[in-house]
Amino acid sequence: MKEFDAIYKSALDELHSEGRYRVFAELVRHCGHFPRARRSTADGEQEVTVWCSNDYLGMGQHQKVIEAMKEAIDHCGAGAGGTRNISGTTHYHVLLEQELADLHGKESALIFTSGYISNWATLGTLGAKIPGLIIFSDALNHASMIEGIRYAKCDKVIWKHNDVADLEAKLKAADPKAPKLIAFESVYSMDGDIAPIKEICDLADKYGAMTYLDEVHAVGMYGPRGGGIAEREGLMDRLTVIEGTLGKAFGVMGGYIAASAALCDFIRSFASGFIFTTSLPPSLAAGAVASIRHLKASPFERARHQERVRKLRGLLDARSIPHMPNPSHIVPVMVGDAAKCKWISDLLLDDWGIYLQPINYPTVPKRTERLRITPTPLHSDADIEHLTEALHSLWSHCALARHVA
Ligand SMILES: *Cc1c(COP(=O)(O)O)cnc(C)c1O
Repeated sequence: MKEFDAIYKSALDELHSEGRYRVFAELVRHCGHFPRARRSTADGEQEVTVWCSNDYLGMGQHQKVIEAMKEAIDHCGAGAGGTRNISGTTHYHVLLEQELADLHGKESALIFTSGYISNWATLGTLGAKIPGLIIFSDALNHASMIEGIRYAKCDKVIWKHNDVADLEAKLKAADPKAPKLIAFESVYSMDGDIAPIKEICDLADKYGAMTYLDEVHAVGMYGPRGGGIAEREGLMDRLTVIEGTLGKAFGVMGGYIAASAALCDFIRSFASGFIFTTSLPPSLAAGAVASIRHLKASPFERARHQERVRKLRGLLDARSIPHMPNPSHIVPVMVGDAAKCKWISDLLLDDWGIYLQPINYPTVPKRTERLRITPTPLHSDADIEHLTEALHSLWSHCALARHVA
């Protein structure tokens, strides 16, 4: 089948020529020394500081999480041994779903093997099984939501990002008798902006629509118990479905929805992506429970996280490095050119031991290529100074635009 290689190669050549061919950094994180890692290259090994991890709070190396996972492995072994329906539901899975339902103040929760699958399976199933459902989807929704809606083959209406006037115009134009669902995120991961959740819920009430909120980049990090932006704003009860991940701030892996008992039972019973796949290893469920319980009770990580973000922004401003202002923990430093973005990222890594993956199209629109910095509670003052010093030097070296104060 060698003749097909030419097809692959020409498609890959195109990525190369546009400067957006993906090269993975090969890392081993040092447990207990977050955010340090060892990077392996063809030329040998290098110690690096990771600045682009979604393990936003370092919970992936938290002692309580690690101990819970080890204990679960010692207790019941490695894998779950089946799908949820056929021998793969353990006590750990049940506990985790209870913990998540409680976190979001919902009757029920349902776990999936990833946040991607939870979006895909839930939106796909709602869209396919509710006759005549129209899904109103924010223009910047995550790929997993878009794929779920596509899979559902239901009617969809895309509204302008975070634009409630546009959403209302589109709700008004739709058949008043059709069932409706508004799908959106709280913190958008590339620009770090936050949706007007209350206004969207008000429109949902006015037009009789359900609401589906992806809180993947907010759970663990916002709200008094880490329930996300909706918890912080006292809006959790106004959302039909809250979706989240266990793989980012909770530091483990897996995804979930929290909703009414009837809705969760419906997805449990009809979603292919829930039914026909092996359930999470019990150790992951145990680690997630430990992480969620810790963050429910401890505001320390959240407070320190926000303080680190302010510190980094202050030092970037002092050096006139342009970064996108937003109300979240995500600090996008704009470069605006795919090849330059990759070049800077390579120099940061090779010369400064700083690992910041370039973010290029199609993750973000062309000409908005960026470095997406995610400070954590475990980045020290010295780490932040080293990073801003490196960016300052590269901005001069690469003749990049400065922010004009
Ligand atoms: C990362 C991400 C997901 C997928 O979550 P995983 O657990 O990594 O599969 C879903 N939605 C958004 C907005 C994300 O950024």
